[in-house]
This record gives sequence, structure tokens and C-alpha cells, in this order.
Amino acid sequence: MNYLVCIVEDEPDISELLAVTLKKANFLTRCYLNGNDFLSNLEKDNPSLIVLDLMLPDIDGLEICRLIRNNIKGKNIPIIMLTAKSDEIDKVLGLELGADDYITKPFSPRELVARIKAVLRRKDYSETEKFIDIDGIIKIDPGKFEVFVNDEKIELTSTEFKLLKLMVQRRGWVFSREQMLDYLWGNDKIVLDRTIDVHVKNLRDKLGIARDYIKNIRGVGYKFD
Ligand code: CA
Repeated sequence: MNYLVCIVEDEPDISELLAVTLKKANFLTRCYLNGNDFLSNLEKDNPSLIVLDLMLPDIDGLEICRLIRNNIKGKNIPIIMLTAKSDEIDKVLGLELGADDYITKPFSPRELVARIKAVLRRKDYSETEKFIDIDGIIKIDPGKFEVFVNDEKIELTSTEFKLLKLMVQRRGWVFSREQMLDYLWGNDKIVLDRTIDVHVKNLRDKLGIARDYIKNIRGVGYKFD
């Protein structure tokens, strides 16, 4: 395993603790005490994952997150945000801006390692495009764009397929309509939030008996669970 984790954290004690913990778990690490140093080395480092503190002396962690996601080279690097307090708004914002997970200080090193491994697993999984089997009820073949419900093939549009795959790959995660729109159309989006509702409704109808896997989270968005 040669995963390199970049740690962006201005408090030396925490940074040190993170580095020691990750090294013990066989990760390579590189520590940055501010956002600018980290950003100027991002391409060179090409990390497998970034642990990013929210409050930094020079650039806000959320801003860094946004910059990374808007950079072609950094687009797919997983980010775990560190937040000082359990501030719901920061968490939600972090996830909106493309962070993969967050952890609240004070955290247990063991939990952080578990989260990092989970995020990396998810990423490797999505990159290998494995056949996805959900409880034997829904089966997805990402390579062939095929979906089966109880072994019967259902016909999805490419938008419905993408939405299903997005939600399935992060089971239990709540996606806002905005995130779904971004995922589907990126900056070119000219459609309305309601468009997502229409696609999700059609997708659920086509899933038939498996429709209840997709749950509507009132006022937020959707999740697959
Ligand atoms: Ca800090």
C-alpha cells in the first residue's frame, strides 16, 4: 500500500498526532501547516487523500476544498474535513463543496484511520466499476450500463442510470438536488432543482418493487438506503 495522505492542519500537535497515527497504519504522510504551501505542492504531491482542517491561518478549508474540486488534477482526490466543533453548517457546506467525509475534533485516531480507509475503499470501488449487487434485488453492471431488478432487466435513461449509480455508490448518504445537478451537468447546468425530482420519480417507477430503496429526505434531497 503506497497511499500518500496530505495533512493540512495548522496546529502542530494535531498534525503530529495525525502523522504518527497514519504512519502506524502504513500510510505515507506529508504535513502542511497552511493552505498556500499545500496548494502550491498539490500537483507534485498528487496525494491519495487529503485531511483538511477547516480553520487555517491563510485560506479557509472550505475555500481550499472548492479550489481542489475545480482543479482538473485534484477533482477526484478524496477529502476528509476536520472541523473544530460539531458545526452542522460547516459539515454540510464541506460536503456540498465536494468533501468526502468529515470528522469532528477531538477525534480518536483509530476512528480517523477507519474513515480514511473507508473513503479510499469507496474510491477504489468506484474506479474499478465492479458489478454492484444490492441485497440480490438490484444488480447494476456499470460497464454495460445495465440494471436488473429481481434479475429482470429494466431500461433506464442515461440520466437515471447516473443518478442511481451516484446514490448506490454512497449508500445512506443524503444528496441535495444541487449536488445531483452538479454531478450530472457540472457547470453547464441550466436546469432547475425540480428536474431532479422528475428524474428520481421516473427512476423509482422503473425500479418497481425496489423503489423504496430511494428515499426522499424532506427539504434536503435523496438517499439510497
Ligand atoms: Ca486549525
